[in-house]
Amino acid sequence: MQRYFVDPSQMDEQYVMITGDDVNHIARVMRSRAGDEIICCNGQGRDVRGAIEEIGADAVRVRILEEDLPSRELPVQVTIAQGLPKGDKMELVIQKGTELGAFSFCAFTSLRTVVKLDDKKEKKRRERWQKIAKEAAEQSHRSRVPDIANMLTWRELLASASQFHYALFAYEKEETATLRRALSGVPSGSRVLLVIGPEGGFDEKEVIEAETAGFVSVSLGRRILRAETAPLYALSCVSYEFEQA
Ligand code: SAH
Repeated sequence: MQRYFVDPSQMDEQYVMITGDDVNHIARVMRSRAGDEIICCNGQGRDVRGAIEEIGADAVRVRILEEDLPSRELPVQVTIAQGLPKGDKMELVIQKGTELGAFSFCAFTSLRTVVKLDDKKEKKRRERWQKIAKEAAEQSHRSRVPDIANMLTWRELLASASQFHYALFAYEKEETATLRRALSGVPSGSRVLLVIGPEGGFDEKEVIEAETAGFVSVSLGRRILRAETAPLYALSCVSYEFEQA
């Protein structure tokens, strides 16, 4: 069944009012009619099944038939902080990472970042990334669309660790600490930040700075993964740890 994300203010006790681009999607792409059923999500955990009552030029009215559809969210909120990669690799990370359940994404710049984005380009990119996240969330039947945060500098990223219960950074030279062990102590409901380096990895100096800032370095296995493979591997591990019990 098709799903649509709406603002919480567009849902009341009985009805959902869908506005914006989704009206066109319902009317012309899906060619839906009154009586057709869809799922609407307010992005805050309220997922409802409803029947379309009226399709107008600017809005679609949906009558709610069923509340409390089961959640499809990962039991822990994983934020992927990705060293800005080259080309369109961040798009891949966002699309696949959304399917795998990431809570949010942010890109950061560090010593070995090669891509440079000016403010105008950055704003456009972010809008595109947010759209990719929304489409992937709908496709994978997520209950919320991952947020794409503003791009951070390395310093800002280090300072953001305090907003999370666990701050991990994936380091290919880590020989003892594993992601598995780090995840085994994480209770459901926790907020976890996972930092992945850019293609060139981290500078030694950054590794020390991250550890000083309270990040725990983890290995993602014995092979060196590409920058875009690393977050997808880690998210798969989170699902395995928390959802395959
Ligand atoms: N500096 C290396 C590899 C960088 S891989 C080189 O150029 O050979 C890009 C990023 O993916 C790394 O910074 C790290 O965050 C992550 N990564 C890749 N393989 C990893 C592994 N086996 N364990 C932990 N992190 C890994």
